Parts: sequence; C-alpha cells; structure tokens
Amino acid sequence: MIVVAKEVSCSHCGAPVEFKSGEIVTTCKYCGFTTVIQTGQAFNFEHSLILNNYDVVRMENCARSWMSSGFMKPGDLAKKSKIVEAELVYLPFWVVFGVATTKYKGIFERISPPVVKEGQVEKKYNWLILARKATVFPTREYDVPLAGKIPYDFQKIEEFAKLLNSEMGKDETLDLAKQQIESHHSFLLQQNIDRVVECSTVLELKQMLYLHAPVWFVKYQYKEKLYQLIIDGSTGNVLKGDIPLTKF
Ligand SMILES: [Zn+2]
Repeated sequence: MIVVAKEVSCSHCGAPVEFKSGEIVTTCKYCGFTTVIQTGQAFNFEHSLILNNYDVVRMENCARSWMSSGFMKPGDLAKKSKIVEAELVYLPFWVVFGVATTKYKGIFERISPPVVKEGQVEKKYNWLILARKATVFPTREYDVPLAGKIPYDFQKIEEFAKLLNSEMGKDETLDLAKQQIESHHSFLLQQNIDRVVECSTVLELKQMLYLHAPVWFVKYQYKEKLYQLIIDGSTGNVLKGDIPLTKF
C-alpha cells in the first residue's frame, strides 16, 4: 500500500499537521493539541504520556545486559553483537477501563456423569489496545506503567523520536477490547467447564484514555544476521527479543 501523507491545519496553533491515510487521531508536534481527523473536532479523551527514561547509550546497556543473561543465548552474544539501528517510537495506545462480565453455561465432563454448570466471570480491567494496525508489538506482555503517566506534553518528545498517530477510533477500540476480553474469559472458563453451551460478555465502560508510550525498536547484528529487540523506554525492559539459534 502506498501511504500518502496529507496535511490539515492544527485548530489550536494553525501549524500544519501531517497525517497518513488510515490515521484517525492526530497530535500537533508544535503545540501537542490532539484532533480527530475525520470530524476536525477536539478530542474528548484524556491524552497522556509515559516518559522515556533511556537515551541511546543507556538503552544499549539494557540490550547488552539482556544479551548476557538468561538461557538459550550464545555465550558471546553481548560481546559480538553490534547495534545497527535504534529508533525511539512513541506508540499510541487506548486504555479501556471497565468491568467485563461473562455469563456462561457449559458441561463439566471431568466427572461421571457430566454435569451442567452455570456461572459468571466478572473482572475489572485496564485493557490495553495498540492503536496501530500493522505494528508488531507484544501488547499482552507489556505492562504499561500507568502510575507514571503525565498529561501529554509535546515538549517532552525528543527531537529524534517518532510519534505515531492512532488508526483506531473509540468504537473500533471498544469492539476490539470486548473481543479480546471475551477470548481471555473463554480461556479462564476452561477451569470451570469443558464444553461451552452458552456464553455472552458485557463490557461496562468506566473510562477511556489515550496514551503515548516510548518504545525502542532496535536491530542488532550477530554473525552477519539481523535480529530485533523491542525495549520499553520507561523501564528499560526488553519486551521482545529475537535470539540467534545456537547448536548445543
Ligand atoms: Zn498545534
């Protein structure tokens, strides 16, 4: 797909705001004002920022300590790897605060004769949805440090960093959150029943929050091959790392 950048004017400061096709919410890099592109209306949600605490040098230290720890890694990985690319990206997320209730009816087959069981699973969530469709990111492994969020401040975004806009609106985000929670609940139900007869989930929304969080996308080279690391810019944790195959 060819992505053409378009421009609108920021309704707050008048500066040109660039966005790409598919993006729904955009943030002005000159004043930090957030706009819904299709309607041009102001944004009704809290927009927060998680601060990045790592510069290139400190981020590389995190990468090397990951390389030199844990199992299944070549012994010389930290020593022989070369970081060839490191990009700091502020990824857009939606956080859906709510209570999800799944009512179910099913068959418990672990005893003889099997019995019908009914019940419900009710849980409170801060469910995280990545607002980008093509970005590969381990969202479920990512424990976003919500306690450290501040109101979005464009001046805290480093000059060299990339800020991505949301490709998902409110309704789409809620649908997706509901689907994902439902499938998480189906997984939990396996403890109670072996076969589902009926199952329905209701998500009671308390609040929604839009958030930009810093993530380092790193490429490193080891023995002529390239591998990827994804590092949380807030904590320095490696969220996902490719490990070169070793022969034991
Ligand atoms: Zn502006």
